[in-house]
Amino acid sequence: MSNRPGSPNPGNPRLSVVIPVYNEEGNLEPLHERLLAALAGIGFSYEILFIDDGSSDRSPEILHELASSDPRVRVVTFERNAGQTAAFDAGFRKARGEFVVTLDADLQNDPADIPKILDAMKDADAVCGWRVKRMDSVVRRFSSKIANGVRNALSQETIRDTGCSLKGFRRAHLERLKLYNGLHRFLPTLLKMEGFTVMEVPVNHLPRHAGDSKYGIGNRVFRSFHDLLAIRWMKSRLLRYRIKSEEGGGPDRQTRS
Ligand code: UDP
Ligand code: MG
Repeated sequence: MSNRPGSPNPGNPRLSVVIPVYNEEGNLEPLHERLLAALAGIGFSYEILFIDDGSSDRSPEILHELASSDPRVRVVTFERNAGQTAAFDAGFRKARGEFVVTLDADLQNDPADIPKILDAMKDADAVCGWRVKRMDSVVRRFSSKIANGVRNALSQETIRDTGCSLKGFRRAHLERLKLYNGLHRFLPTLLKMEGFTVMEVPVNHLPRHAGDSKYGIGNRVFRSFHDLLAIRWMKSRLLRYRIKSEEGGGPDRQTRS
């Protein structure tokens, strides 16, 4: 049985929920419970894939217990902290589902919104949650508003809330992306650059259930501005061509599509 990404396998779950975890010991059990409640009625099989991004608290033990008691739970553990983009990337590569839904581990995203994301996937290639009522500090809300405005202006983008981790994808599309540290914030833009459609849906946002945010002004605003310039450059250098005609190679030529 092949487990290579993209290989069809009827035994695979239809949905993979991918969750990066970095020191979230107080959140994992309630998150697991709320995920089970939210996914009970979706009508197809799923797996919950936790990526432990080098946690130094009790997260590894708790994740081990969850995986031992629930066969739908899988845990991938990094040697050391590698960042949220790396955790998403590992999750995308390990996911077996046709659909991938991502969310944060701190319960700021509401698992009850997952069916809404899946429903919207009928009308778009990917779906991006839009936190209409942010439950973050005034400073965070203000800096995020400016960041979204600058990001959209400089990258000719329209996504209102790319920082919302609650998103839905088709795994086959994610395989087309090469991610670099920080680029998880640009997943909708990267997918659009590949020609895929992205739809936004309003979602709940809740205060962090337990623990602290892993980001401050220094490791978010300045770094993501730098990343934005890379995205801007990539967009400007996107290959755009249409093949007018093709001939030669003989009757038995191998074609690649
Ligand atoms: N996270 C991670 N690796 C990191 C930083 C964060 O896996 O190096 C995870 C974290 O555990 C959480 C999600 O990414 O599940 C978002 O982090 P956080 O809640 O701190 O971000 P915020 O909501 O404050 O933007
Ligand atoms: Mg958070």
